[in-house]
Amino acid sequence: MSERLLFINYHYIRDPAQYVHPGIHPLAMTDFAAQVDWLAERYHMATPEEAEGFVGGRASLPGPSVVLTFDDGMLDHQRAAREVLGPRGIRSVFFVSSKPLVEHQAVMVHKIHWLRATSEPAEFHRAFMALLPAEWRPDEDPEMAAKAARIYVYDSPEDGRLKYLINFVLPYALMDEISSGLLAQRDVSEAQFCDDLYMTEGAIKALCQAGHRIGAHGHSHAPFTRLGDALAADIESNIACLTDIGGERPRWVSYPYGRDWAIPDNASGFCDRFGFDVGLTLAVGWNQGVLEPFALKRINTNEVAEVCDA
Ligand SMILES: [Zn+2]
Repeated sequence: MSERLLFINYHYIRDPAQYVHPGIHPLAMTDFAAQVDWLAERYHMATPEEAEGFVGGRASLPGPSVVLTFDDGMLDHQRAAREVLGPRGIRSVFFVSSKPLVEHQAVMVHKIHWLRATSEPAEFHRAFMALLPAEWRPDEDPEMAAKAARIYVYDSPEDGRLKYLINFVLPYALMDEISSGLLAQRDVSEAQFCDDLYMTEGAIKALCQAGHRIGAHGHSHAPFTRLGDALAADIESNIACLTDIGGERPRWVSYPYGRDWAIPDNASGFCDRFGFDVGLTLAVGWNQGVLEPFALKRINTNEVAEVCDA
């Protein structure tokens, strides 16, 4: 079947040599450019408008097609757009969490990524546990270890357990506080951290003007399924900020974390409620046949070889 669409997502695009420890696995800019060229030789590089028409059932695609997406509003993406997408005439979708722009506070998981990538693993564990209030400290908990091992198949048991603790057990606000505390111990100010990691409003506006699309990714980047009563406020803040920057309400959403557990049970009702036409997950695969426009499949850059050779 030629009518199929693949979304490919990118996070960190920068020199991998600067990180010796696990936590950030960036793609070098030259490897990004090579992957884009490889894809463009094989597939139609669809515009966001073409993708919207296809997933909405209003238009067909000229053949197997690819749309590139970028999550989290990172500075790396501004450079990728300028050096790689622009010269090739490729238009993409950039999903932005607004907390760094509005509050000058970093997204929790980015602080954790950086802390892990720049510390000895044992040192990170020690420093993290030292800031964790006693009531949250996991003693030997085989059930939790088993759940962590099921979700974090690529991590060591110790790393998997810590990620599970971070993503599923500890309250988001507590994690945010601990990660900020750890940054402070390293003499990194949160404002400086944001300046180094995220695009400014001006940079995001320039992406819109270059024909790229801006999409919602939550204000705080907390998983939508864990926000409870704070869900609407989080999403409305994100929408308000992005509408202000881009001049129109975002119609695309990328669910933070992207996995089953982080996607609202009723994705279609969720998208209806907040005015989104297109919702992207990180469920692996091409989109073809009967499409689910509010829970579309999307792969990460490291899954391209596997999915595209099939
Ligand atoms: Zn994200």
